[in-house]
Amino acid sequence: MGSRHPNPRLVKIHRSYSVEEIARLFKLHKNTVRAWLRQGLEAIDGQRPTIARGVEIRRFLTDRRKRAKRPCGPGRIYCLPCRAPKVPAGNMAECVATGDATGTLQGICPDCERMIYRRVNPQKIGAVRGDLDVTFTQAGARIEETTKPNVNYGSSEGDHR
Ligand SMILES: [Zn+2]
Repeated sequence: MGSRHPNPRLVKIHRSYSVEEIARLFKLHKNTVRAWLRQGLEAIDGQRPTIARGVEIRRFLTDRRKRAKRPCGPGRIYCLPCRAPKVPAGNMAECVATGDATGTLQGICPDCERMIYRRVNPQKIGAVRGDLDVTFTQAGARIEETTKPNVNYGSSEGDHR
């Protein structure tokens, strides 16, 4: 009976819910609710077990629905704090491959300057990169520095003018 699109209206905004209560309310697995917490559902600070305000759960689910209807277009990465798809600062993004067909496109939000991430298949990056300037890296690998110092470049050849 669990729904992939839980109805935000089932949540009472004036009460708080534990992970278990949220799971029961929407007939979902607790792990689904824990995933929400990782995806931006904010829990009340310092509370164990984790509880979230009804108003926040409703906000999160409403946002999620909007996002499902309006997926990020090419060249955009969704910024959770700004709650909007953004073209990363400088039109630049880094594609970090974590596996053969899994990776993350990451950049910096031009408005809040936080890192923003989008799950991508690096082999199909053409469909999502838009006109971004994308740097490709492997997870764990450092970006290789290609700029050579040019301080003394040509000095041994003398002045030919
Ligand atoms: Zn932002």
